[in-house]
Amino acid sequence: SKPVVAVVGRPNVGKSTLFNALAGERISIVQDTPGVTRDRIYAEVSWLDMTFTLIDTGGIEPESKDIILSQMREQAQIAIDTADVIIFMTDVHQGLVDADSKVADMLRRCGKPVTLVVNKVDSFEKYMTDVYEFYNLGIGDPIPISAASRLGIGDMLDEVTKHF
Ligand code: GDP
Ligand code: MG
Repeated sequence: SKPVVAVVGRPNVGKSTLFNALAGERISIVQDTPGVTRDRIYAEVSWLDMTFTLIDTGGIEPESKDIILSQMREQAQIAIDTADVIIFMTDVHQGLVDADSKVADMLRRCGKPVTLVVNKVDSFEKYMTDVYEFYNLGIGDPIPISAASRLGIGDMLDEVTKHF
């Protein structure tokens, strides 16, 4: 069966934007029991000669500020349980926040390959120095992308698919 890649990250970092940029035609929404597990959105993605299943663990539920960390832990657990490779997405505009570090600790311990992506790097010239702080997460080299402008997506996919 195809490799599974799951996207994890705080609300508003751009998970859905990346998902929509990569997703082909087949998008399905899997709904779980309300309050137990969050809805997930699946798509099939092709890159070069490879095909994989992409999961947006952020799902379709509205985000509420006070439960961000618990939501992220749930997302990360779904990713750890189901994915072959995990994309951990952060946001260069918001910078590195405590919830990122806590989830990074979880992902580091799980032993699965994690690709650390820093989104909203709309201009490499303007934002590259801000990308370096994400090395502090201790989960590898941060890959700068702009999901909205589709910058850096090829480098990100090379990094993700080398684990297949
Ligand atoms: P999610 O909550 O992680 O799924 O984030 P969304 O994909 O819904 O995006 C949250 C907000 O960030 C939206 O207003 C997007 O338009 C914006 N956004 C996403 N990607 C980028 C990007 O690469 N650059 C900028 N400047 N904004 C982005
Ligand atoms: Mg979303």
